[in-house]
Amino acid sequence: MTELGDLPIRDDLRGKTPYGAPQKPVRYALNVNENTHAIPEGVARHIVEALAGAVLGVNRYPDREFTALREALAGYLGHGLTAAGVWAANGSNEIIQQLLQAFGGPGRSVLGFPPTYSMHPIIASGTGTRWVTAERDADYALSPATVVAAIESTSPDLVFLCAPNNPTGTPVPLETIEAAYAATSGILFVDEAYAEFMPAGTPSALSLLPGRERLVVSRTMSKAFAFAGARVGYLAADPAVADALRLVRLPYHLSAFTQAAAVAALDHAPEMLAMVDDIVAQRDRLLTELPALGYRAFESHANFVLFDGLDDPQATFRALLERDILIRDVGLPGALRVTAGTEEETTAFLTALADLGPAGAR
Ligand SMILES: *Cc1c(COP(=O)(O)O)cnc(C)c1O
Repeated sequence: MTELGDLPIRDDLRGKTPYGAPQKPVRYALNVNENTHAIPEGVARHIVEALAGAVLGVNRYPDREFTALREALAGYLGHGLTAAGVWAANGSNEIIQQLLQAFGGPGRSVLGFPPTYSMHPIIASGTGTRWVTAERDADYALSPATVVAAIESTSPDLVFLCAPNNPTGTPVPLETIEAAYAATSGILFVDEAYAEFMPAGTPSALSLLPGRERLVVSRTMSKAFAFAGARVGYLAADPAVADALRLVRLPYHLSAFTQAAAVAALDHAPEMLAMVDDIVAQRDRLLTELPALGYRAFESHANFVLFDGLDDPQATFRALLERDILIRDVGLPGALRVTAGTEEETTAFLTALADLGPAGAR
């Protein structure tokens, strides 16, 4: 059998490992931060009707400018945005890829602050962009001074901030984002995949967009919006950023089905987001109950919690899997990450963890 190394693959891809969060058929899948609540049946029906309409026109290419979707997304985001300042793709991962194709690439670099979203360095690698890193403050925080010092010492072409950060849940203060923008002459990209789970009143980087043409803020329908399977991510930025992405995107990159389904779902935004308060309550419950079980839980503004104090995270991961509960080993010492699910799922996780015995004893 041929092995990867036998193929004339790009030298810079040799020895790399692909993204590979386990996809296992378990009762409690709390490992990739999906919204674990099903979408409301009425909304599902409306989406199916929209898809049926799209089938009838599928002999033609879809709207290359996905205008209806961009208008719907701009309306959803608010902040005075219009369709011209919004761009969408097949998941925010494709948004990031297009951004690096346009502003990164061979000879260019992107600065990130690990531990952060594992796809950021992988997409950097795929686009031939050098991934440079800098340290965070204690408890994974990012102060303005820390970010500015890192930008000054590395002079990157792009800076990636993940706010709140995955896999730690850490919020990024708006002052840090403002300071990062002022310190770089490159693109500042803020990945806000979990923005809808932030405490009420927490400002979004969207509020910083006016007058900052190198700031790009991405969102996704995969998490709060309960639409992970549809693959829809988007960004807000100066309209000139969309012009840059038009140079690298594939023509008609968003299928007629994707556009129809997303527009129909956005028509029902309040219903699609109805479960966010429940999920936030379960996250807050994890933040209280994990310390009661003897673990340290890190502050989280997202729909997951990172906790540490485990002697052997892999052993705990496997013991939970034996109980049909899949969480995530993100490779941080003594730590695991769990998604806030329904009340029942969260109870199942906490009960199983308590059953495994006191923290530190495994
Ligand atoms: C889950 C996640 C995404 C979502 O990616 P999609 O391609 O939109 O599904 C993006 N960024 C971060 C930090 C994430 O955790």
